[in-house]
Amino acid sequence: MDKARRDIRALSLEELRRFFTSNAVPAFKGNQVYEWLWSKGSHDFEGMTNLSKSHRSLLEEHFVINHIEVDHLQRSNDGTVKNAIRLHDGFLVESVLIPTDSRATACVSSQVGCSLDCHFCATSKLKRMRNLNADEIYDQVVVIDRQSRLYYNRGLTNIVFMGMGEPLMNYKNTLLAIQKITSPDGLGMSPKRITVSTSGITKIIREMADQNPKFKLAVSLHSAIEKTRNRLMPFTKKFPLPELLEALKYWYDQTKSKITFEVVVWQGINDKQEDIDALVAYCKQVPSKVNLIEYNAIGDNQFVQAKPASISAYISALEGQNISVTVRQSRGNDIDAACGQLANKQH
Ligand code: SAH
Repeated sequence: MDKARRDIRALSLEELRRFFTSNAVPAFKGNQVYEWLWSKGSHDFEGMTNLSKSHRSLLEEHFVINHIEVDHLQRSNDGTVKNAIRLHDGFLVESVLIPTDSRATACVSSQVGCSLDCHFCATSKLKRMRNLNADEIYDQVVVIDRQSRLYYNRGLTNIVFMGMGEPLMNYKNTLLAIQKITSPDGLGMSPKRITVSTSGITKIIREMADQNPKFKLAVSLHSAIEKTRNRLMPFTKKFPLPELLEALKYWYDQTKSKITFEVVVWQGINDKQEDIDALVAYCKQVPSKVNLIEYNAIGDNQFVQAKPASISAYISALEGQNISVTVRQSRGNDIDAACGQLANKQH
């Protein structure tokens, strides 16, 4: 009966080996199955050709292989590819391939919808339905890696957890997925090429830091003035800026890796000198750099991208204090694939 069959990819290699030995089959069969499931991306037991028929039936009897499917794909004029990914239970999430001259970046989702309430983000309008499993996160990367090879003749160079959801509200599966992405029996990518972006869940930042992670951390700060940040992202009332700063200092102490602060500048919200001064003062307290993100409209008129002069003022103030700053240009916004625009609109 299907009800009793478990998702085989929820098992670790050790558990798979144990499953075989408890069924009087040599443990190394577990390694072979593991390879089929992860390196070779098998979707059925039938095709596992180095397994005997009886071993395949044994697996069939106990397990299912859940997998994702690209339901719908859109290509932007700038080369960005947005995928609507269908999960085994019918939910949709979005994943994006962002090619540039020197990089191919996958932007992946960690949850179906999001439980946070950032007013400027389209995903926040969707309720959080569930967390993604580690294999569902990993599979998005595999799909996008294949697309990158197909369309641009190169594998992925970078991965950002900046799609739908808050990765730190699903951090166990996020960490498991990263383990798989970086492990030689997965994709073997360097963790230095992976960035996890969070809106700043302080307790989890500390917990992750304790595990000595090698990936990079980005924080959606947007404002270093408490009142303004609370207005933009009401849930941050639970995570005050001084507490966030302490958690980030702890992250840096453990990892020696600089924090990236992500900041969108909006007219009339955070484009004044006091906003700039507050950001500079905040950044100076922890080794960090700033990524100024272009605002991607989400169909209401509440927010308007700041004037170029305000962006320049941010840049010179930060650089003046030796804080490095980059400006992230919007990509794929003609197909609603840009940051903050992922909302399953096509469906
Ligand atoms: N929940 C995580 C990851 C998803 S959002 C986080 O908050 O970091 C990824 C990035 O896109 C964040 O920096 C977020 O602040 C930014 N973002 C959200 N909506 C946006 C919009 N409409 N325009 C530009 N960037 C946006």
